[in-house]
Amino acid sequence: MRADTTRSAWLATLERFRHDWDRPATAAIWSPRLESVSRDELRAIQNEKLRAVVPFLYENSAFYRQRFERLGLLPSDIRDVDDLVAKWPVVDKAEMMADALAHPPYGTYTAMTEALWAERGWMMFSSSGTSGVPRVFRYSHVDREQWAWANARALHAMGFGKGDTVFMLTGYGPHVFSWGVQVALFKMGLPTLPGGGMDTKARLAVILRFRPTILLCTPSYALHLARVAQELGHDPARLGVRTILVGGEPALSIAPTRQRIEGLWNARLVEFYGCTEAAPHVGGYSCAALQRGGPVATHLAEDIQIWETVDPETKRPLAPGARGLTVCSSLNSETSPQLRFLVGDFATLEAGRCACGRTHARALGSFSGRADDLINLRGIKMYPAQVEDAVRAIPDSGDEFEIVLETDPAGLDIMTVCFEHPEHGSAGMALRQRLADEIRSRCEVRVGVEVVAPGTLPKTEFKAKRVKDRRR
Ligand SMILES: [Zn+2]
Repeated sequence: MRADTTRSAWLATLERFRHDWDRPATAAIWSPRLESVSRDELRAIQNEKLRAVVPFLYENSAFYRQRFERLGLLPSDIRDVDDLVAKWPVVDKAEMMADALAHPPYGTYTAMTEALWAERGWMMFSSSGTSGVPRVFRYSHVDREQWAWANARALHAMGFGKGDTVFMLTGYGPHVFSWGVQVALFKMGLPTLPGGGMDTKARLAVILRFRPTILLCTPSYALHLARVAQELGHDPARLGVRTILVGGEPALSIAPTRQRIEGLWNARLVEFYGCTEAAPHVGGYSCAALQRGGPVATHLAEDIQIWETVDPETKRPLAPGARGLTVCSSLNSETSPQLRFLVGDFATLEAGRCACGRTHARALGSFSGRADDLINLRGIKMYPAQVEDAVRAIPDSGDEFEIVLETDPAGLDIMTVCFEHPEHGSAGMALRQRLADEIRSRCEVRVGVEVVAPGTLPKTEFKAKRVKDRRR
C-alpha cells in the first residue's frame, strides 16, 4: 500500500508544478514560472519534488531500497538537494548494469510493475549499448505526457513554431531521442514527415519535393545527407532547411564539425542532450541565444531534473562552475526516476541568467562526449571528439574518419587515424604529417595516419562507431 500512496503523493506534487501544460505562455518562453524564476525559487521546486520522489523510489524500487539500506539511510534523511548531494553517492552505469544482469530482463531499479504495464504501459526503449549489453526501459503514459510537455518547452526554446515542417530522419528504432521529439511535435501541433524505412536518396527526394524547414538527425547523418545531395547535383544550402536538430553524438562542442554542418546546409544547428536512464526527458536544450557560428551554451531543464558535476576520479561534488562529469537526478519520471545518476559527460555549468531570459543552468561550450568513450592509449587519455576536431581542421578532409587501436608485434599499443582526402595520392605524405601534428597539439600523443580516397570509409547513419579497439 505504501507503494501506491507514495506514488500518488509524487503524482500530486508533479501536478502542482505542471504550469502551462497545454500551450506556451509567451512567444519566447513556454513557462516563465518554471524557466525564468530566481535560482532560489527553482531550488524550492526541486526540493519539493525531491521530497516526493525519494519515498516513492524507496517504496517502489528494490534497487533503490537496497541502496538506502546499504547506506543506512531512510527517505526522511533526504529532505533537500543539499542532503542528497552530501549523503547519496552517485549511481553509475556499472551498478545499473549489474542489477540488470542479476535480474533480467528489466532489472529492479524501475518503478514499473507488470500491473502498471498492463494498465498504462506505453513503450519500451533500450540504451544504445555502447558499453556492454543494451538495457531496456519501459515507460508509462504518464511518462509520455511529461515527456511531451518537457520536450515541447525545449523545442519552443529552440525556435520551433507555426510554419515549420519537421523531417524526422530516423528509423524510429528503440532510442529515446527521436520519439521524445515526435511526441512533443504532436503536442505542439507541428507537422512532421516520418523518414523511417527510407534510404538516403529517398529522403533527399522528400526534401526536394516537400521542403521541410527543420531536420532531425545525428550530426554524422546531417553530413552524409548533404554529401549525397551534392553528388546528385543539389546544393543543400539552397533547399530551404533553416534548422538542424541533432542528438546522440557531440556536435556543438566540436567547432569545425558545427561549422561544416551549418555551412553545408546554410542552417542553424541546435541540440538535445540527455540519456536513456534519465528519460523520458530532454536534459539539455539549445535556446534563442545560440546563434549560427556564435558562442555555444546548452541549457539544462532544471525544474524537472537536478544537474550537477562531479570530480571524474573521486566522483565527489564540485563547486559550481568547475569542469566535471554530469550527474542527473530525474524528478518527473514515473518508471525511471533516478537519484544522482552519473551521465558522465564533461561539462562546465553556469547558473547565471541567459540572454534568452532563462535561469536554467547552461553547459558552456556544450558536452564533449561520455567519459565511457574516453580513449586510453598507454595512459594518455583523449576523446574521439578531439580527434574529430583535428581531422576537421584539415581543409577538404572527408566527413568520415576511423580510429584504430592495436597492439604492435613488440607489445606496444598504437593508434592509427584513417581519414579521407581528395589528394590522398601525391600529397599524402604531407597530409599525414599535418594531421599527426594537429592531433599531437590537441591530445599530446603521437599517432599513425593513413589517407584514403573520399568515399572509402563506411558511411554513418545512426550513432557513429568510429573507434575500433583491437588491442590485445
Ligand atoms: Zn538561453
